[in-house]
This record gives sequence, structure tokens and C-alpha cells, in this order.
Amino acid sequence: MILILKPEVDKESPELKWIYEFLENFPGINVRLMELQGETRTVREIHLIGPTHNVPEEVLAKMPGIERVVRVSTKYRQIGRHDVSFVPVGFTYNGIKFDQESLHIFAGPCAVDTPEYVEETFKVLKELGIATSRMGAYKPRTSPYDFQGHGAKCLPWVFELAGKYGIKVIAMEVLKERHIEEIHKVLEDAGKPTGVMLQIGTRNAQNFELLKEVGNQKEFPVLYKRGMGLTIEESLNACEYIASEGNRNIVFCLRGVKSQLGSPHRNLADFVHVPVIHRLTRLPVCVDPSHAVGSKEKAPNGLFDIFNAAAQGVIAGANMILLECHPEPKRALCDGHQSLTPFELELFVKDMAIVRKAFEERVNAFSQEMVKEMVS
Ligand code: PEP
Ligand code: MN
Repeated sequence: MILILKPEVDKESPELKWIYEFLENFPGINVRLMELQGETRTVREIHLIGPTHNVPEEVLAKMPGIERVVRVSTKYRQIGRHDVSFVPVGFTYNGIKFDQESLHIFAGPCAVDTPEYVEETFKVLKELGIATSRMGAYKPRTSPYDFQGHGAKCLPWVFELAGKYGIKVIAMEVLKERHIEEIHKVLEDAGKPTGVMLQIGTRNAQNFELLKEVGNQKEFPVLYKRGMGLTIEESLNACEYIASEGNRNIVFCLRGVKSQLGSPHRNLADFVHVPVIHRLTRLPVCVDPSHAVGSKEKAPNGLFDIFNAAAQGVIAGANMILLECHPEPKRALCDGHQSLTPFELELFVKDMAIVRKAFEERVNAFSQEMVKEMVS
């Protein structure tokens, strides 16, 4: 059960004390106060975990200080929306707002390689007005003989270069707790020239101990990638581990699922699930067309399959795109075959602006029709 508090009720308010006193009558219930920083207000919620069937909803709903009582039906109680009218507050990290309304393109190489290529990438992003990037220092590879990433040693120059070009957030995969500590330390030592969104890759989508580690810190937001062979329900339950440890700054990423039916693509794009995740959770949703498609094949009209896949996500309201690009894809140490060149990236950005505009027009046209229907 979730009790949404009235905007004026804070930690010091007597109303909160009265609510806690009332809840003491129900042993076995664990009470947690959650604070979500919205655009215009801080949303405070009391989460009741345990045997809540005896807790009288009607009495609580009438208590001063309580705006609304929501019975939680799904297992993912913290990331879940539970009710369509539930406020899907997002979060702001390093000046960038992430919610179910916004759209950001995180472009960059699969893996950090040379300082020259990384600098060139940031420079191109800056020219395109993009302050969000992606690149891995720690790479989980299918073969132990493939490039595993430069690890911590590349972080100082990556962060310094990011700062130089005004990059605010880099999505960077972590594979274990030590990687989070290394990122934290290098950022601190450098005076925080940029920010990092910790990425949980599809291979770790059910690595519950790692999910608890990224959930156990609040410094960095988390990009959680759906498991390549997991149902939405299984992935949302796994993602809940992050929130249940205390970190609610999460973006849920769809990256395609493994299936022969996706052939000739690397995976079967699941971007039709963007609105499903919006409906089931309060999380912003990312799509990763690079790993879903896995090649630079084009349609006869010239549009890359990667563009078309991304468009499917954006037309349905995606809030973030994770995209691989490289100044010289042929020389990339990882996933060059699916990486766009700077020129192709520029085309991609223009294409996504067209699709985003179409999405906004769809939503406006639809809501106008709904209003007409209601007044008629
Ligand atoms: C990546 O984004 O670099 C990556 C490895 O993706 P995934 O975990 O989706 O395969
Ligand atoms: Mn990759």
C-alpha cells in the first residue's frame, strides 16, 4: 500500500507523526518514507510493506495529511505506476531532466578506445547540441579473447574530455561494485567535470547482487537494460531491486530480445513495449536501436534499419535513445559494424526530430479528439 502525502506535509509535520502512530497498530508492517523531487513539488509517499490487508484504506484516506491511498497490486511496488493517474515524477541529474515526457539521445562508441576518437565524438555531439553520450570502459564480451575495455585507466581522460565539450551525462556499463567505486573516485578527483549514468547490461539483467549495489547508492542514476531473454514482468521485477535498495533514479531500456524470428537483425526489436512500460511503471523509457538491429543495412529508400527501429520507439513516446557511433567505425574495437559515422549521426538526429514532432502531433490530435468526445 502507498500513502501519497499532501504537498504541504513534510518530515517535520505533526500529520506525519499521527500517521506513523496509527500504523503502529498493525504489527509486521514495514513503513518507508520516499521522497521524489518533481518539477513543481516534492512528492512524499509512505510505502507500507508486509501484511497490509488489515489496514483500513478508508480510515487512512480521511486522515489529515494524506492525499490518496493506493493499493499496490503489482510486485514492482516502487517503480510501478499502479494507477494511471499516479504521478510519474522523473528525476534531474547533472542538469538534465529524465521523465516520461522528455527525449535525449545518448550517442557514442560501444567502447572507449583512443583519446582522439573519444574527443572527436564529443566534439561532434557538441556541434549537434547534444550533451549526453555513451561509452563503455568495462565491456562484457561473448568471447574472453575479445577486447574487454580499457577499465579504470581510461576514466580520467574520458571525463576530462567530456567536461571540455560540455557533456553532462555518459551512460557507462558497470559489471561489479568496484567499477562504481572507480567511477566515483575518478569523478571526485577530477572535480566532477561530467556525470555518469550507470548502465546495467542485458547480460546482468538478473544479477541481483549487482542490481542491489547500483540501488544502494544515490549518486548515479541507473540505466537498466531489459534481459534479452526475459519477459517484461521478469525484467521489471529485477529492475525493482534497484529501487527497493533506495535508488529510484532509473531509466528502463528496451534493446531487443534474442529470437531467431528477429533475423536478419541481431535481436527482435521490442520497441512496441515503450507505452507498456510507461503504463506499468513511472520510469522514463530508453530504446537501443544499435543492439536491436546490429548492422547498418538500409531499406531501398536509403533509411538505415537502425533509424527505422529508433523511429518505432520515438513515435511511441520513448524518452531516451542509446545509439552507437564512431568517427571511424571500421577501426572501432567493439561493435563498429553497427556504429554510425558522424555524418550518419547528424542525419539520425534530424530524422529523430521529425519523428518526435510527429509523436507530439499524434498525442495532441488524440487528446483534442478525446475532449470533443467528452463535451459532445
Ligand atoms: C552496450 O550497450 O554496449 C551493450 C553491451 O548492450 P547490451 O547489454 O544491450 O548488449
Ligand atoms: Mn555495443
